[in-house]
Amino acid sequence: MSWSPQALRGQFPILQREVHGHALHYLDNAATTFSPECVQVAMARYENHYRSNVQRGVYQLGAESTEAYEGARLSAATYLNARSDEEIIFTPGTTFSVNLVAHCFGQSLEPGDEIVVSLAEHHSNFIPWQRLCAQCGVEMKLIPVLANGSLDLSQLDELITPRCRLVAVSHISNVTGSITDLDCITTAAHHHGALVFIDGAQAAPHGPIDVQALDVDFYAFSGHKSYGPTGVGVLWGRQELLEKLPPFLTGGGMIERVTAQETRYMSGNRRFEAGTPPIAQAIGLGVALDWLRALPWQKIRPYQQKLSKKLLRRLLDIDGLSLLGEHSPAHRVPIFSFDIDGCHSHDVCQILDDYGVALRGGHHCAQPLMDALGLVATSRASIGVFNNEDDIDALLLALNKVLEVLR
Ligand code: PMP
Repeated sequence: MSWSPQALRGQFPILQREVHGHALHYLDNAATTFSPECVQVAMARYENHYRSNVQRGVYQLGAESTEAYEGARLSAATYLNARSDEEIIFTPGTTFSVNLVAHCFGQSLEPGDEIVVSLAEHHSNFIPWQRLCAQCGVEMKLIPVLANGSLDLSQLDELITPRCRLVAVSHISNVTGSITDLDCITTAAHHHGALVFIDGAQAAPHGPIDVQALDVDFYAFSGHKSYGPTGVGVLWGRQELLEKLPPFLTGGGMIERVTAQETRYMSGNRRFEAGTPPIAQAIGLGVALDWLRALPWQKIRPYQQKLSKKLLRRLLDIDGLSLLGEHSPAHRVPIFSFDIDGCHSHDVCQILDDYGVALRGGHHCAQPLMDALGLVATSRASIGVFNNEDDIDALLLALNKVLEVLR
């Protein structure tokens, strides 16, 4: 596929807008990114052409929406290299997926069991396990972090013991951008018969995932960070595990038979999709994942590394700036969190906004990590597939203004 950053940008109508009289330089892709026009067209086509429920109507529109919805499931399965589309559950997002697994898997826990989570997790992959452990009398053990916020896996043997039932970690940190060494985690967990849940919210936007090669048990990500719509996400689980788990929500669309006395549930993934699913959103996400899969990553990755190198070099030149995560662009994705001595991230981001530059400031829903690093908040720039050198230059120029104002 021929590719240029400029041609790719043309697929994102939102990039044409201005902010405070400046061109928009959107660098908050790790929070929510934009969707290309093909995603919006597919969703509008559902709304205007065949809007109807799935798995229910015997009429033409219902057949078309079921086909499109199931097609999206296949796209998600292909994106993750799942063994079958029956391993895909559409959920409202990563937060929901973690809660689903925590609730359903949690019913098999017994006092004395252990769950291992890292200190660097997003609250979505932290609080559900923390609450579950408190409810079940189960110990939650924490993988510590290094001074740069990346995981410290040197104590893994002591943390993952025969009592461990599940390890829940993110594939890529939403704060540091560091890529987790999943190999040693899955090896240690599976050695003791524990399951591995991966929060892939920040990994899925950076190219196709291979859940079979990763040898994990559950993998979750959100549509809105992966160039798809809000309100939808994917939970992948190994089929034999999905067969064993009890349902989360109950209601229409997930039963084999209901009598006045009891209910027999469908097996596998369908058991976890109670009620009308987010149909338009799932269809949009399917298109986004096909689109992402077709991108020339062998060209995009070096281009993003070039942008990252420029940004890193200039950031590290700023007196009093500390950057979290790995300094080498090869061991991270382009998510850059930094703290500037004496400048609160909210002030930094507010001044950047005056120049049309959108960054995220705050604790990034990772307060245990912030506590461990002795920080309250950081500013975070996250690069998406449509960002170009102008965006980096605009950020660097606006950062000079920030320093003039705040120092
Ligand atoms: N995990 C990580 C690593 C994230 O970055 C986020 C979103 N910031 C979530 C989980 C939660 O995703 P959502 O809000 O889409 O459920």
